[in-house]
Amino acid sequence: MPDTPTPPGPYSRVILKLSGESFAKKGERGIDMEEVVHIATQTFRAQQLGVEIAIVIGGGNILRGAQFTAGNSSIHEATAHYMGMLATVINGLALQDALESVGCETRLMSAIKMDGVAEPFIRRRAKRHLEKGRIVILAGGTGAPFVTTDTAAAQKALELEADILLKATRVDGVYTADPEKDDSATMYKDLKYVDVQQQNLRVMDPTAIAHCMEHNLPIMVFNYREDGNIERAVRGETLGTRVTS
Ligand code: UDP
Repeated sequence: MPDTPTPPGPYSRVILKLSGESFAKKGERGIDMEEVVHIATQTFRAQQLGVEIAIVIGGGNILRGAQFTAGNSSIHEATAHYMGMLATVINGLALQDALESVGCETRLMSAIKMDGVAEPFIRRRAKRHLEKGRIVILAGGTGAPFVTTDTAAAQKALELEADILLKATRVDGVYTADPEKDDSATMYKDLKYVDVQQQNLRVMDPTAIAHCMEHNLPIMVFNYREDGNIERAVRGETLGTRVTS
């Protein structure tokens, strides 16, 4: 029997994709625990509404494989991607302690075996943790190079049978241009997967979009920085941009 209360809206289980940059102050790198605790608090409140939450964490605040190898011939691109995956484990550890500091029970699972730091990702075990009311942090991406944690988020959402993939960003949704650089940019409220593909919109990486499209998994891109938005998102309120078929 699930130990979590009745869900407050249409979703019982969600995947929350947090990028590494959400762990640093704007324009900075690394980890700022004040930022991490802020997100942890918002996420814990959302989970207490009765929605199971698994978080897929990025690593871009520490290292992104593709950027690290650009113009750097002394490192193989695959190595740099593995470094990026390890960065997500560092973030996962920070997030785990932040969540626990606000009273939340958590499990950190890694796609790359790392005994002593994180549990290995085992689908059935992850589901059991969620049913027991724990927030599950999924680190290590897919465990394979040349993709990003967006793809991991899509894969894990499918594996764990999540109802939606919630992509938390610094801006309100998906825009016609970068709203932090272009004042004339306007936000889409609804998009189809094919629009994202054909117009090459920056929602998530193309492999992630393909997975979501193939399995009809809705995506909602929303601004996590506005207080209460993670709760609104898990309750099923329409925020930001929804991507569906
Ligand atoms: N990465 C990878 N395989 C994965 C997930 C991530 O190789 O399945 C590497 C990749 O180099 C990526 C880095 O880890 O750039 C950090 O993840 P990401 O860029 O997705 O972090 P975010 O932008 O979400 O902070």
